[in-house]
Amino acid sequence: MSASVTTTTLSAPNSSNRSSERMHAAAIASARRSRGFQRPAGSDDAPLKVSEFFGRNTFSFELMEKKLKSHDVAKLKEYATSGESLPRELADLVAHAVKDWAISKGATHYCHWFQPQTGATAEKHDSFFSFDNKGCAVERFTGKELIQSEPDASSFPSGGRRSTFEARGYTVWDASSPMFLMQTEHGTTLCIPSLFISYSGESLDQKTPLLKSLAALNRRACEALHLLGHDDVKYCVATAGPEQEYFVVDDSLAALRPDLILAGRTLLGRNPPRGQQLEDHYFGSIKPRVLSFMMECEQELYKLGVPCKTRHNEVAPNQCEMAPIFEFANVAADHNQLVMEVLKSVGKRHHLTVLFHEKPFAGINGSGKHVNWSLADSNGHNMLEPGDNPSDNIRFLYFLAASIKAIHDHGAMLRMAIASAGNDFRLGANEAPPAIMSVFLGETLDEVLNKLTDGRGGAMTERQREINLDLARVPVISRDNTDRNRTSPFAFTGNKFEFRAVGSSASISPSLTFLNAAAADALETMNAELRRRGGERPSAEHILALIQETIKATKKIRFEGNGYSTAWHQDAEGRGLPNLRTTPEALKVLNEARTQELLERLGILSKEESKARYNVFVERYNKIRLIELETLLEMVSTQVLPAVECQISQQSAAVEACSRAMGKTPKAVATRFEGLTRLYGTLVEQTSLLKTFVEATAAIHDEEKLAERLAGEGMGLMEAVRQASDELELLVDDSLWSLPKYRELLYIL
Ligand code: ADP
Ligand code: MG
Repeated sequence: MSASVTTTTLSAPNSSNRSSERMHAAAIASARRSRGFQRPAGSDDAPLKVSEFFGRNTFSFELMEKKLKSHDVAKLKEYATSGESLPRELADLVAHAVKDWAISKGATHYCHWFQPQTGATAEKHDSFFSFDNKGCAVERFTGKELIQSEPDASSFPSGGRRSTFEARGYTVWDASSPMFLMQTEHGTTLCIPSLFISYSGESLDQKTPLLKSLAALNRRACEALHLLGHDDVKYCVATAGPEQEYFVVDDSLAALRPDLILAGRTLLGRNPPRGQQLEDHYFGSIKPRVLSFMMECEQELYKLGVPCKTRHNEVAPNQCEMAPIFEFANVAADHNQLVMEVLKSVGKRHHLTVLFHEKPFAGINGSGKHVNWSLADSNGHNMLEPGDNPSDNIRFLYFLAASIKAIHDHGAMLRMAIASAGNDFRLGANEAPPAIMSVFLGETLDEVLNKLTDGRGGAMTERQREINLDLARVPVISRDNTDRNRTSPFAFTGNKFEFRAVGSSASISPSLTFLNAAAADALETMNAELRRRGGERPSAEHILALIQETIKATKKIRFEGNGYSTAWHQDAEGRGLPNLRTTPEALKVLNEARTQELLERLGILSKEESKARYNVFVERYNKIRLIELETLLEMVSTQVLPAVECQISQQSAAVEACSRAMGKTPKAVATRFEGLTRLYGTLVEQTSLLKTFVEATAAIHDEEKLAERLAGEGMGLMEAVRQASDELELLVDDSLWSLPKYRELLYIL
């Protein structure tokens, strides 16, 4: 054995290697330059304008127009909006055209791209390559392969449906979302956005219920519009614009954090003296390395047809946001998944780890995904846009009242829709909306509605430009209604609602699905009442009276104040608004008969599907928490405690040397040492309690009970371990601490 090997082996327990590794990583990180990139070039090598390469890698309807006969494209569009299954001959035509296009762009494979209930996307690639009947190699792709594929469903979460049904599952082409090409250095794959269902037709994914909720909402919204006299409306679709927040961390540092690798968040880490208190990061100038990364992401996303619009730094150090131009909710949901995938993969090329977790760092802001939501009809009108004339305003007020009623009647269901292990750290943590659902309208609109309901329509302020029609008092509402309330989970922002409580790592499909369901239900009730009072052609008086009554009856859900304040929690309790603090509590709403009946009635999820989904969500919560607990145990046992033990021996030698030199141990020196050993004792004790708890969970077979234990006792123990470790971080020699610290993770880029 060579001398150097011996030295390395012997010095390992001393941990100087681990710490030097950390310092080395930090040094490399800081020295890294931003990676250059180039926008796609045209024939003269000048960079193309975005409009010239936007959607280049998608098989859009415009492209189909070029490749197929126009009456076939028209038929295809019809099928895409009607949701009916496509005739085989038409599918064959599309398959042929898309194959030629994809191969001409270098694709060798195709995959059905779907969204199982893991929050991520899934794909199984098959090559176009095949043999013809003479045994010659050919590229082949049929309509059957385009429409349907048959992955084994048994390894995807099904919430118990698996035991009763065959493990087979089907992915089915969703013709309403464009196919796209995923390019890597070594090849290209045609991705076919798809639904994922079981052998017996039950949904196993996020997308099927979303599409069904869109259909349910479309039906009720069209019905409402016809009752309001807008007979020419053919469809009315929910629109969505998800603002995506995320953190970036140098990947050489992230690689040294087992918690970031396994749990996506830091389970330990003391706040540095400088966090976000200087308020210099929000909209601050973007670091060149991060900007370069953002730009490359956007190029990729533009090619995939994702309409990126806004990029900026967020409140916390190394926290950023991207927001797209809104689209139909189904496409927006697919695109948000692509956004997350592209951010992650381009991040790798820039040596950046992208964190989507809702709370990657304690003590500074977490990340959300503000889902902006509205409805657009076939004439291009936004249902939540106050209009210029009374009839537009009646429509606006009707849909506004229905949206408020939706949150009023189904607040608990919407809280359930955003429940996740990660979002629990964020909701109500003084930086994000509380777990209590309420609606913020802004002063102007609040005043308009209050006046409407107490019949004081004539007393509008100058600013609101009230007009008084003889048929009814319908105010013209100022469009300049841009009040902001960061503390509200559901805020009206001028011409749309912003569902602010959605977690940054979540797929937006569930929140959109349940929001659409709530809105469909509210519209259904209002439409029925309107019809009862005024038949198929209710008068403006009928409509306005119903709006007024609805607004009056739902007043308790409206809250214009500070959602972070403790006073609001008491106020909300007085109003009878649910405050479901943890995920296990919130998820129960999906297991309630009322919710299941609603979803079944609207044709979104059968009772069995809801129950299965509930099981999937609870199990997922438990798995995430257990991964966190076990990772924490491992980190403390193999990294923190050994460092503290080295510190104790170092310091005890120092105390001895000091008392030898001075004749006695100075009090301050003894106190410092005592502090260290006391905290060491606390950490060892808390860790052992945590270990016992984790071991005991193996015996809990009831997932619901396990979830409750994890959310209560488990979280408490995790917090206690963290507290002791974070205090020790300040007492241990920096070179012994092998974990990159917050100051490095948040400031070195
Ligand atoms: P904010 O000031 O709230 O951060 P941003 O500009 O970052 O605003 O994001 C607003 C988002 O709202 C964008 O994604 C935008 O496309 C979206 N949006 C605008 N109008 C609508 C609408 N009618 N329906 C859905 N989303 C919309
Ligand atoms: Mg924004």
